[in-house]
Amino acid sequence: MAYIEPAPILDKENPFEAMMSRFQTASQILGLDDEVYNVLKSPARQAIVSLPVTMDDGSIKVFEGYRVIHSTILGPSKGGIRFDPHVNLDEVKALAAWMTWKCAVVDIPYGGAKGGVACNPREMSAGEIERLMRSYTLAMIDIFGPDKDIPAPDMGTGPREMAWLMDEYSRTQGMTVNAVVTGKPIVLGGSLGRTEATGRGVMVTAMSAMQKLKINPYNATCAVQGFGNVGSWAARLLAERGLKVVAISDLNSAYYNSNGIDIEAAVKYRDANKGTLDGFKDAEKISGTEILTLPVDLLVPAATEDVITGNNADKIQAKLIVEGANGPTSSKADNIINEKGIIVAPDILANAGGVTVSYFEWVQNRLGYKWTAERVNRRSDRIMKDAFDHVYKTSVEYKVPLRIAAYMVAIDKVAKTYKYRGGF
Ligand code: NAD
Repeated sequence: MAYIEPAPILDKENPFEAMMSRFQTASQILGLDDEVYNVLKSPARQAIVSLPVTMDDGSIKVFEGYRVIHSTILGPSKGGIRFDPHVNLDEVKALAAWMTWKCAVVDIPYGGAKGGVACNPREMSAGEIERLMRSYTLAMIDIFGPDKDIPAPDMGTGPREMAWLMDEYSRTQGMTVNAVVTGKPIVLGGSLGRTEATGRGVMVTAMSAMQKLKINPYNATCAVQGFGNVGSWAARLLAERGLKVVAISDLNSAYYNSNGIDIEAAVKYRDANKGTLDGFKDAEKISGTEILTLPVDLLVPAATEDVITGNNADKIQAKLIVEGANGPTSSKADNIINEKGIIVAPDILANAGGVTVSYFEWVQNRLGYKWTAERVNRRSDRIMKDAFDHVYKTSVEYKVPLRIAAYMVAIDKVAKTYKYRGGF
């Protein structure tokens, strides 16, 4: 076992540092040897491309695009494509490594990757976005492939963009290759169950953790921050299993009702109200920061990163936190929360339901077959439950928090596979 630098304790942190800090801690506990640590520390491949796009006014704008393959040790790499003005190489590198750990922790045969283009899709027409997506696909033609690197949507992209990617890739191959990308529209080979998959995985993780903590769901209360895809599905499915969801929030407002919020009504309200909860009537308005510190059994941060920090961690009253969002807790907050005895089911485990059903989409495309929603749900529930049990067992065995245990499970799997495959 060689020297691995001690993990820094950080609060507001860049995503690469946040990921590295947990990676270092888990590697040290595992006693990872120097060679494997160095291999897993750095991405396997990084591509930076310039993408000239004809804009609607006839001008040519050049965008910078990235694709980082962190690892292909477990299989073809998998990871989303982000269209956002803040995209940069450091962020894409961190998110790519995150995907390696996420796929490994749920034991699906994928490595990790991430891509992105620095652009503002909100200020671009559909035609401009389409030309950018097609240009990005062509620039990455030697990287993408159903057996090599399989992209998916992320912030700023969705099924529409994945359809353009699939079409452009297929043209270059002279045949339809729908397994080159996941998150496609259902008619193009998208999977049933994908929309709710991440929220469903959050629910399965929460139910598994509550069982260990002996929390009866029928007597339990829950607060959910973020009411987009992940938050609203998690809230809906937790409510279906007996929990009282007493608080929900989005970017603009937060609502509390001690008798429980009618989640179906909140979803209907949001959908009819331009996607926001603002003005929701069946609950009392509270502040957006208050939602994290309510006296509930379960807290689900499902909005964005760095919301639980050194500033509010000591005020958290929940017994259990299940991270629907990526990176909602800083490493400084982690220490405070661990000292308070709060259990945290970490992002790389709790929100892996999405990538699991993406994997099912790829499997169905390769089989040329379509599974029912029941089959998709049953299989993804089992994967999420098994992953939770494995991480929980590791956490008990090594007396470490679930987050470190999840990284240990993931790193150990990749390291062992690397050892078998061998390096240079
Ligand atoms: P989304 O855009 O559908 O919803 C995000 C929600 O969070 C919205 O309600 C928004 O108003 C709210 N929000 C944003 N910033 C907020 C803030 N500061 N305070 C309170 N609310 C805020 O996004 P999503 O797909 O639900 O993703 C949410 C999180 O889950 C992100 O961190 C994402 O990376 C992560 N995630 C998503 C998936 C997936 O399959 N969608 C998979 C894994 C991880």
